[in-house]
Amino acid sequence: MNNAVPDSTASTPKITRRKTRVVRVGDLTIGDTSHISVQSMCATKTQDLEATRKQIALLEEHGADIIRIAIDSRRDVEALAELRQGTSARLVVDLQESYKLAKSVAPFVQKIRYNPGHLFHHEKEVPIFEKVKHIVGVAREHDLALRIGVNFGSLDPAQAALGKDRFDIALESAREHIGYMEDLGFENYVVSLKSSDPNDVMDINLRFAQEFPMIPLHLGVTEAGMLPLGEVKTRIAFENLLAQGIGDTMRVSLTLPHAEKFQEVAIAKKIISDVYAGRFRSVPRFVHEGLNIISCPSCSRVENEAFVVLAQQVREMTQVFKEQNLTIAVMGCRVNGPGETDDADLGLWCAPNHVNLKRGKTLVGQFSYEEILPKLKAEIHDVLAQRGQ
Ligand code: SF4
Repeated sequence: MNNAVPDSTASTPKITRRKTRVVRVGDLTIGDTSHISVQSMCATKTQDLEATRKQIALLEEHGADIIRIAIDSRRDVEALAELRQGTSARLVVDLQESYKLAKSVAPFVQKIRYNPGHLFHHEKEVPIFEKVKHIVGVAREHDLALRIGVNFGSLDPAQAALGKDRFDIALESAREHIGYMEDLGFENYVVSLKSSDPNDVMDINLRFAQEFPMIPLHLGVTEAGMLPLGEVKTRIAFENLLAQGIGDTMRVSLTLPHAEKFQEVAIAKKIISDVYAGRFRSVPRFVHEGLNIISCPSCSRVENEAFVVLAQQVREMTQVFKEQNLTIAVMGCRVNGPGETDDADLGLWCAPNHVNLKRGKTLVGQFSYEEILPKLKAEIHDVLAQRGQ
């Protein structure tokens, strides 16, 4: 394992990495002088063992340091146990709403991610601190790393109820959970602060790095969408942050067919090597001019395999609106779909047999996969007509 920071030469920029503490993920270290590790996620159904084994092998072959798998049920845990038998890859599971699954998945993974915004949904009578204590107890017992994964699309409702803006809610949520870690005396964790807007990702990670210089950061632009724009959005945030020495591990989240998922790893590695060689391709800020399509990278939770094709069809169908200032979000499932479409002008999130169409936070209706494109188009015309365009 090469744990050296990429070399700088006289002709390349002098990048000084933050001197964070080191977090251990199995035999990998994250933070300080460790190499910037790259993560990706299996998009296959976790219980489809053959497909998921292939996906793990593909990501490993392209150099993924850590591979994430979605687990939502006991049967997923059984599948994870089977998958563990056949691979030595470092695996991470994200708990979403089921914090108690931590105990079941722990023997098979090196890291667990939890989202502070999702800890509310189950067992509402249990204080959040107790839930975090449970997760930390499991991490200690099994020598795992944790990631506190704050996401602008699924923010802590208790913080949101205080009436702050998304930026402050996200930061406050991270502070609160870092406080829990301190109270519990646990240090083997990283933090991520993700948004689909690269400007938010830049700003909040910069603020976080100033406030918590010792805590390693996992970088990500969520729902960056399809290529090529998905790479552009990610580069804008990552180039800016990496050049300032911020970012210890990262994931590029792209909407891709399963067979091309390795591009998340290849592009992340390319961004890192470009930055350290002084090859910058982005402009300093991401300006939302024209059509902006956000789409999730899909994962095991995707409700209908037609999702990736739907995202591509939305992009093609909306090309005629490319000069319009419109944000359209296309999401794969109910876990993140409802929340992450709230801030778009129009949002689609997939259910098994229909697609939910939203206008801002309001549900317009539920339509079949055959009906949705004309309905979306009509809704775009209506939005533009209301703006007088
Ligand atoms: S929205 Fe759902 S399907 Fe898409 S990446 Fe997130 S959890 Fe997976």
